[in-house]
Amino acid sequence: MPLDKLLSKFRTLAEGIIAEEAPRVDQEARWPEKSMRLLQQERLTGLVVPQECGGWGQGLYALGQACEVIGQVSASTALCFGMHGVGAAVMAAKASPRQKKAFLEPIAQGLHLTTLALSEPGTGAHFYYPQTQLLAVSPDEFQLEGQKTFVTNGGHADSYVVSTVGVEPEAGFHQFSCAIVEKCAAGLDWGPAWNGIGMRGNSSRSLTLHQVTIPAWHLLGERGDQLWYIFQVVAPYFLTAMAGTYLGLAQAALDRVRHHLMQRHYSHSGLSLHQVPLLQHRLGTLWAKVERTRQLLYHAARQGDAQGAGAVMSLLAAKAEVAHCAVEVVNEAMTLAGGSAYREDSAFDVLLRDARAAHVMSPTTDLLYTWIGRALLDQPLLGD
Ligand SMILES: Cc1cc2nc3c(=O)[nH]c(=O)nc-3n(C[C@H](O)[C@H](O)[C@H](O)COP(=O)(O)OP(=O)(O)OC[C@H]3O[C@@H](n4cnc5c(N)ncnc54)[C@H](O)[C@@H]3O)c2cc1C
Repeated sequence: MPLDKLLSKFRTLAEGIIAEEAPRVDQEARWPEKSMRLLQQERLTGLVVPQECGGWGQGLYALGQACEVIGQVSASTALCFGMHGVGAAVMAAKASPRQKKAFLEPIAQGLHLTTLALSEPGTGAHFYYPQTQLLAVSPDEFQLEGQKTFVTNGGHADSYVVSTVGVEPEAGFHQFSCAIVEKCAAGLDWGPAWNGIGMRGNSSRSLTLHQVTIPAWHLLGERGDQLWYIFQVVAPYFLTAMAGTYLGLAQAALDRVRHHLMQRHYSHSGLSLHQVPLLQHRLGTLWAKVERTRQLLYHAARQGDAQGAGAVMSLLAAKAEVAHCAVEVVNEAMTLAGGSAYREDSAFDVLLRDARAAHVMSPTTDLLYTWIGRALLDQPLLGD
């Protein structure tokens, strides 16, 4: 199916069930069960799965667009969908025939959800330095031991793409591996329900892995080629999914404030706010901010899909710029929408709370600009 048809399916679901479920997702901090199941039923969760496995064979550009469409009505749902997409892309990057059959084909059929479990309490925003240990206990099995935090889709996904570090002396400190852990694996201990101030539907829970045994064929790629995963797959897909989500949120704030300016009418003067030159100017400034950020994101995503040389830098910049855009546009939109935006049921409150996560979701805004600066100065990207 061509991308425009796929996106129109996303739009239909976003304007229907996803928008309908969104208030409860936020108010009750509920994982968006209905929306995610519908995305599965429509097989849209196979968006980035290769066509040879029955998926739609799309890449970064499509994932960003899909997350933007969903993010316009529910940033939480967009992130749940996005993290599944990133997990699927990481699996697909070097999937063995057995992994394709066991994971990618069911994902393409809408029968399997996955997600990424990278962040850890010990290394925080520096997710590329996992401390969860991967130990070969026999030629056929690995054992995992460690802790993860903020696992989006936690407790709801069928599998988890878990980052680990080898404990054998030859593994080396910086060499991480990603492995697939199924939800039924013994030794998974979930922390309390997620209760964020925003992104409340994410079920971003902590997870302890205690002597979790997985078959050796659940390892993704070869041990030792894992830095490749970070920059070729994890970072591009992670950055694009998050950037698409928060761009959708910024667009939602823009749409809402435009609506307010259009319909707010003063009885004392007969004036409408859309006639006020200062407000026209400020709304125009917001539109330009959203649009230039959108252009950067999709330019970067297209470059990434074409494996262009500058793609990673552009994607790093795009996620950082989207984070600023989302926070600033919501803030400014709230000012323009006046006191009525400053109510719990105004919908701006959700946008404000959700937007705040954009800067702290790793790679955080500070890390992203630092990496760009390091690259420009011929310094190694990953430091402390
Ligand atoms: C809603 C939500 C969903 C998430 N979903 C997932 C998920 O699905 N999977 C996953 O793996 N993780 C997920 N995360 C985790 C996220 O990606 C970050 O890893 C996590 O938020 C980092 O939090 P921390 O408290 O450990 O930050 P800290 O590591 O304590 O960092 C605090 C601040 O210090 C800054 N900082 C740290 N070191 C440096 C440095 N050297 N230079 C400049 N600044 C620095 C950081 O940028 C940050 O702003 C999620 C987080 C949230 C909030």
